[in-house]
Amino acid sequence: MFKKILVANRGEIALRIMRACRELGVQSVAIHSTADADSLHVKYADESVCVGKKTSAESYLRIPNIIAAAEITGAEAIHPGYGFLAENAHFAEICVDNGFTWIGPGPDVIRSMGDKATARTMAVEAGVPVVPGTGLVDSEDEAAAAGERFGFPVIIKATAGGGGKGMRVAWDEAELRKNYVAARTEAKAAFGNDGVYIEKYLVSPRHVEVQLMGDNFGHILHFGERDCSVQRRHQKLIEEAPSPAVTPKLRGEMGAAAVRLAERVNYRSAGTVEFLLDTDGSFYFMEMNTRIQVEHGVTELVTGIDLMKWMIRVAAGEPFDFVQKDIAVKGHSIECRINAENPERDFMPCPGRVFYYHAPGGPGVRVDTHIYSDYLVPPHYDSLLAKIMTHGKNREEAIARMRRALTECVFEGLPTSTPFHLEVLHNPVFLSGKATTRFLEEEISHLQEGLRGRAKSEEG
Ligand code: ADP
Repeated sequence: MFKKILVANRGEIALRIMRACRELGVQSVAIHSTADADSLHVKYADESVCVGKKTSAESYLRIPNIIAAAEITGAEAIHPGYGFLAENAHFAEICVDNGFTWIGPGPDVIRSMGDKATARTMAVEAGVPVVPGTGLVDSEDEAAAAGERFGFPVIIKATAGGGGKGMRVAWDEAELRKNYVAARTEAKAAFGNDGVYIEKYLVSPRHVEVQLMGDNFGHILHFGERDCSVQRRHQKLIEEAPSPAVTPKLRGEMGAAAVRLAERVNYRSAGTVEFLLDTDGSFYFMEMNTRIQVEHGVTELVTGIDLMKWMIRVAAGEPFDFVQKDIAVKGHSIECRINAENPERDFMPCPGRVFYYHAPGGPGVRVDTHIYSDYLVPPHYDSLLAKIMTHGKNREEAIARMRRALTECVFEGLPTSTPFHLEVLHNPVFLSGKATTRFLEEEISHLQEGLRGRAKSEEG
């Protein structure tokens, strides 16, 4: 096992990694920007190094400073968390070239899976179903021909896209032609790569993803699925495990497909294969995330396996001490991502000071957060305040516990997405377990009406 790991991240995920380190008896090194000097991950770590000024570009994305921090502190390995440099193959390479163990998959795998068009090709080669689609599309006419071939609607995707960005839906040829040009310009500006491809747009799919991990000995295991259909602008808001739409048989099939793809690329470390699950039970590969995900905790709750510790253990060269049939899904878990934002103002991010924070507790509740009373949420990074997770013997109990946990939780001084989550947790479509990725769009007027009622009763 390593003696010391540098955590190249901030916020709740940096803390999560450091907690795993502490349980493993490993020292942790925090890096931070000047704006984060008072952050919990800095206080929690055994050592910390300031790597630059407040913006991400000047600090958490500054590769030379991070490598220097690892060198001066004598860290042996670097854990990137999610976001920032986690899917940056170049950074992974530099870490390895400088003699540090990269806690993640190999740079080549990050590179090929990071390009969505290449990842699609690999999925096809691995015998994993993909949504009908094209390779890179070079002209407006080629785009129009693809629309004709698959039938509308279709979705234009930036091959370098991510985080819900770089996608445009087109419902007819005129819209496709218009969006094709705009999508390329946008992709070039956002990702520095204007490559786009076209997929058939499934109208009401569910987003179901399979967690997997590979050790250095060629063992690749899957840990069941998560349903992340409740999204806003293609970004996840609520995740749960297992998916209400997945039977044990389907779980086996999706898990096997995910493992086939991972085997095709000799995958090591933690990763997630994302699928769209159609109404008829067919599933299609969407993309692979070559890192730990925000929502990994719900899988930990239902499997009882500490994915973060295993991610570190396999990077240190330990083989799994369990096999696929030892991994069982028990009960149900849900996660709500609580953001500093105002749901009544189109979810506008609202950073600021949290005057008082009180964590929910009791049976079946887990909170991953970096917030403490009197903490100033800096405006330079994402607006995630906390991940509240609950576990119950079934979905009903997990939901009941989540409603309770959300009402116990206090973030004084900031508007948060908590009231919005409470609305979702009382919504009949969500409760029926039938929400698709269209849920928010379809239910928004009901949810907003509920929010207004909630605000009124709090005033009164
Ligand atoms: P990102 O990498 O930006 O997260 P993804 O490819 O994972 O993008 O897609 C994000 C979301 O976009 C999915 O969860 C789904 O809601 C929607 N989506 C993507 N592709 C399709 C498709 N072919 N049909 C319908 N919805 C899609």
